[in-house]
Amino acid sequence: MSEKITVEKKVLSENDKLAADIRAQLKARGIVALNFVSSPGSGKTTLLEKTLGALNNELRIGLIAGDVQTENDANRLKAAGGKMVRPIVTGGACHLDAKMITRVLPELDLDQIDLLFIENVGNLVCPSSYDLGEDMKVVLISTTEGDDKPLKYPGMFRRSSVMVINKIDLLGSSDFDMNRVKANARSINADLRIFEVSCRTGQGLKTWFEWIKNLKAAED
Ligand code: MG
Ligand code: ZN
Repeated sequence: MSEKITVEKKVLSENDKLAADIRAQLKARGIVALNFVSSPGSGKTTLLEKTLGALNNELRIGLIAGDVQTENDANRLKAAGGKMVRPIVTGGACHLDAKMITRVLPELDLDQIDLLFIENVGNLVCPSSYDLGEDMKVVLISTTEGDDKPLKYPGMFRRSSVMVINKIDLLGSSDFDMNRVKANARSINADLRIFEVSCRTGQGLKTWFEWIKNLKAAED
């Protein structure tokens, strides 16, 4: 085994231990945690803004917003009504890891949180390898991207439980084919739950909000 692979394995097993500890802390309080992953620009922050806008009065939502260089996304989520928002600026790192989550978690009052949304760094490669202690990964893809993304980044689609297809209001303005993207995604992960939404027009969001509400209800 090459030295690089050995080091990588060690880093990941340390990450898994921290992630297991995070998961236990969240479980003990009945918190449902989702890890949002996608390419840059698929609409993670916008989906979270809309979700806050719709559910902020019913559910206590904690947010951790990862970004490479700025706190822009965290500030947007605060402006959208997020009361418990913590930024993580990775300073160049292209993914969040469990150690970063462990560091910010004490800044959130976990007894006051029902749902924890983690916005990962926009990147479809390594965030798939780093367990953050979440219940599920939610992968976003937008209709302005290639519908072969699930085939190009199978690890991410295999490890995600949910796929949100965003920007469906733009369908028809590119070669993105809805049936093809779903078939591609299901060829990688047959159990993937799929939502079709437009964060801009609001189309499909109601179904998404209902699903989020039921997640918490199922946990109680
Ligand atoms: Mg963002
Ligand atoms: Zn990375």
